[in-house]
Amino acid sequence: MNITRSSAEKLDREDPLAAARERFYIPNPETIYLDGNSLGRLPLETRDRIAQVVDNQWGDHLIRSWSEGWMELPTSIGDRLGGATLGAQNGETIVCDNVTVNIKKIMYAAQLMRADRPDVIAHRGDFPTDRYLATHQTNARGGHVRWIEHDTALDPRSLDADDITALLDEQVAFVHLSAVDYRSAAVADLVAITNAVHDAGALMIWDCSHAAGAIELDLHAIDADFAVGCSYKYLNGGPGAPAWIWVNSRNHDELATPIPGWMGHADVFAMSDEYVPAAGVRQFMTGTPSPIAMAAVDAGVGIIAEYGMGAIHRKAKELTTYAVDLADELFDGLGVTVASPRSAEHRGAHVTLRHPNARALVDELVARDVIPDFRNPDGIRIGLSPLTTRFVDIYDGLTAMHGLVL
Ligand SMILES: *Cc1c(COP(=O)(O)O)cnc(C)c1O
Repeated sequence: MNITRSSAEKLDREDPLAAARERFYIPNPETIYLDGNSLGRLPLETRDRIAQVVDNQWGDHLIRSWSEGWMELPTSIGDRLGGATLGAQNGETIVCDNVTVNIKKIMYAAQLMRADRPDVIAHRGDFPTDRYLATHQTNARGGHVRWIEHDTALDPRSLDADDITALLDEQVAFVHLSAVDYRSAAVADLVAITNAVHDAGALMIWDCSHAAGAIELDLHAIDADFAVGCSYKYLNGGPGAPAWIWVNSRNHDELATPIPGWMGHADVFAMSDEYVPAAGVRQFMTGTPSPIAMAAVDAGVGIIAEYGMGAIHRKAKELTTYAVDLADELFDGLGVTVASPRSAEHRGAHVTLRHPNARALVDELVARDVIPDFRNPDGIRIGLSPLTTRFVDIYDGLTAMHGLVL
């Protein structure tokens, strides 16, 4: 063995983000949590923030709290989230609903912006909700989805412009893809794909659910049109946390929503007969948001803003590199393979391993207080949250797994 536990301890001692872990509630340090990409840990501050909303705002101020700041939360926290994690300008990001509902809104808006084009391009290997919505959106318009058939579970390379140029023409309204693949962690070639999409006159939507808070994103440098993502993974916003929508400001005058709710109205309390959409992203509000849930998103985003995505992305690359190197060494000849890109530049913040008995292995690991994530049919996802995962967690988790496959 070249890689030892003491080498992991040394990396932890030298880690500039080591102190960030102390900002989180970690009741049992023996638990090796490797699934922060499904549900991020609980920031300590979140409990106080929620208690404050419950006690002082809801409890004491009751309905007055809406005019004392609650109404602005979707856009004020949106600005904070967008600035800290997306390279967004103020006014481009809103926190609301969940990813599924937000993708529907964005796809609807994008398709109307290219109303003469019935088809869309999506990835057969994408997260289920993304695929279902692409199909639903095109069915509604009499078009069809042109699928990128590349199977990232079998071949974890990044999607690039060549994957879509063969499918692109003037019938395609938009291309919807994940920035970081939820299985392989492959980072798509964001700039080249977006450029190719624009060259064909179509619009680009990036689902950043597995990217935001994991890799440094600059949606303006990428020149994306729309982006969506969730807040309960690397943003640590809590289970079911409200998701976000980002719209490039150049598109704000052309938006439309399939869910014309009263909270997205230009004058919410006018209670008017007709729906008049609010300007820009605000129209993507549907109904009443939860200030309790919003407080948790704000607390999670606050920690990220403090440490900065540059440092966070750097640590993500170091963590995944350590995990891949250790997996190569431990599992040589044992039927476990690395199903993520070999280069850290092309990975998000998780690493997927494959093994024919993945499901049983994950069950065994969970019984030993090591918590990775099983992905059908044979994937073991090792989620590495840069703010909370230590190198020794990777060492202890993978050596525990090694003991089970021997
Ligand atoms: C996590 C994730 C979702 C989750 O959608 P919800 O509606 O918030 O449950 C959607 N798409 C991708 C790519 C994801 O990683």
